[in-house]
Order: sequence, then structure tokens, then C-alpha cells
Amino acid sequence: MDAETHRSKATILSASDAASIRLAGRIIKTGGLVAFPTETVYGLGCDALNPEAAAKVFEVKQRPQFDPLIVHVADLKQLEMVVGSLPPLGQQLMDAFWPGPLTLVLPKQSVVPDLVTAGLSTVAVRMPNHPIAQALIREAGTPIAAPSANPFGYVSPTTAQHVADGLGGNVDLILDGGPCPVGVESTIVSLAGPQPELLRPGSMTIEQLSTVIGSIHQTATVNHKPIAPGQSSRHYATRTQLIILASAGARPILKDNERAGLLTHSAARDTDDRFAVVEVLSATGDLREVARHLFAALRRMDSLGLDRIYAEPCTEEGLGVAIMDRLRRCAAA
Ligand code: AMP
Ligand code: MG
Repeated sequence: MDAETHRSKATILSASDAASIRLAGRIIKTGGLVAFPTETVYGLGCDALNPEAAAKVFEVKQRPQFDPLIVHVADLKQLEMVVGSLPPLGQQLMDAFWPGPLTLVLPKQSVVPDLVTAGLSTVAVRMPNHPIAQALIREAGTPIAAPSANPFGYVSPTTAQHVADGLGGNVDLILDGGPCPVGVESTIVSLAGPQPELLRPGSMTIEQLSTVIGSIHQTATVNHKPIAPGQSSRHYATRTQLIILASAGARPILKDNERAGLLTHSAARDTDDRFAVVEVLSATGDLREVARHLFAALRRMDSLGLDRIYAEPCTEEGLGVAIMDRLRRCAAA
């Protein structure tokens, strides 16, 4: 695992204990860092209005300061604190999809520190629908800025143990709320320009969005030409090389003595004994199950010292768009 990156042991508390939430809220309020579950992945949270606390988030993650954070709010009062103006389309999207895994980029209020938005005049906000995330934000009484709780560029964490493996005691507290129910990050839509733009595909699908927006413009970043550094093509990456197969069911030619792993969406592939290890992400090809299991499976495979990981592609519809986006970024050399 990531033992080499630990400086000290992580403090993990069960989030089902009300005292843990109270302690976590106090840590956020006094400028500390708390890792907490959301429906998408675990976040590394700080008071979004405290620049010193935000600086610690960048330091602990080794995240470049040009990569802005998402601000998480629990209610509309907190939204008004951080967002300068809300276009009618923003209101419609919030009515349809909040709380949930949709992040909106909107004009920011000056109270949001420049560090949080990487100097941009916009802020990315969302209202998570995970009860522990909501309870923590309410307890802290402030919007919480939180990127994924992993070292920059590595696979996002979907359990408290993943957070501890990557960040150890550099976080004041890890709230354990069990595995994240969705498993891939939020969808990011910018409403700051003349037309809505999809900045990152995620767990809110384009089909769902189109019921409110109609068709949505996809920026070059979605086609893997980064315009913002946070959208760099190599991200969500394992240390082990990952190769996406040409099609589901394709049989790669393995080199002599190659120890390879296979990520598959079909129970039948489980019997392919050329692979040292096979992870069935969903026996029935259910994309929600694939999304939920993807990052944990990548991390398990990455801990085995394999020569290579092969991944079956999935259809690029619904959640499949976000799943393929993460696999491609992991595979980018
Ligand atoms: P993470 O927190 O690791 O899921 O990453 C958050 C993503 O949100 C990053 O890729 C940022 O580039 C993006 N983001 C955050 N704030 C903004 C903003 N104001 N404008 C555009 N993208 C943003
Ligand atoms: Mg991240």
C-alpha cells in the first residue's frame, strides 16, 4: 500500500456516533482537516472561508495551487454566502438534482478565498446528498471546501481505509461512513459562460442533465485536451500500467511471464486463468455497480505488484461516460 507516504497513524472514527460528528465539526471550525464520506468519493474537507485551512488541503494532497476546490453546502443560505449570482438555469438544475452529485460553476462572492478558486472569479459548488456530509457541514456551520481525499493524481478514495492508506495522520480526523454508494466523482457543469458547459463527466449522467438543459456543450477537456490543470489527462492513475482493451471480451496477448490483472464486467471472464487476478466489477454489467466498485478494485490491483492491468471498456452511455473517462485518464502515459 502507501505506507511510505505515512508520517503518522490516521485517526478514524465511526460517523454513526454523534460525538464524532461534533468533534469533526469543531475541527473544521477551528481550521483543521476532516476526511468524510459523500455519495461520490471521500472528500478532504476544510472551512471553505478560511484560506489557511485551504492551504493545508493543498499541502496534504500535494495538489498544485492552480487546481481549484469544490465547495460543499448544506442549504441555500450557505449557497448565497459563496455564490454571487444564480442564473435561472442554475435554479432549475438545483431544483432537479440537488442534493446530489452535480457541481455547478458560478460567479463567486469575494468572501471565498482566492486559494479555494485558484484565483478564478468563479466558484464550484455542490450540495451532497450523503447524510454524513450534510450533518458535518451543518455541524461546522460553514461551507466546506473538499477535493477528493487522496494524494494528487492517484485513484480517488471510496472508503475510510483508502483515505488512511494515502494520507495517514496528515488529516486531523477521518470520519468512517462505509463505502461510498456511487463511487465516481460529481459531474461538473459551468454556468459562468454564455452557454452551459460540461467540464467533467461524472455520476450525474448527461442524459439526466439533458432533461433540464437540452443538449450540453462539452469542453475540450472532456476530449482530453486539458485547458485547466486540474483536468490534466493523467489523473485517477494507478502506479501499475493500465491498458484498456479494444472491446469487452477481447483477449490481450500477454508477454512471457507477464503477471497481469483483468477488470471485467462479466462473470464469465472470471474463469480466464491467464490472468494472475480477475476483478468482476459487475457480474451483470450494471454500470452503477461498476462505478461503485471501480476505484476500490483499481487500488487492490495496484497493491499486488502486477506488470499490467487490463480493463474491459464499457458502453459510453449513462454512467459509462464517467467510467470510461476515469479509465482513459488512468491509462494515459
Ligand atoms: P476534485 O476535487 O479532485 O474532484 O476536483 C475538483 C475539480 O473541480 C477540479 O478538476 C477543478 O478543476 C474543478 N473546478 C473547481 N472549481 C472550478 C472552477 N471555479 N472552474 C472550473 N473548474 C473548477
Ligand atoms: Mg481528485
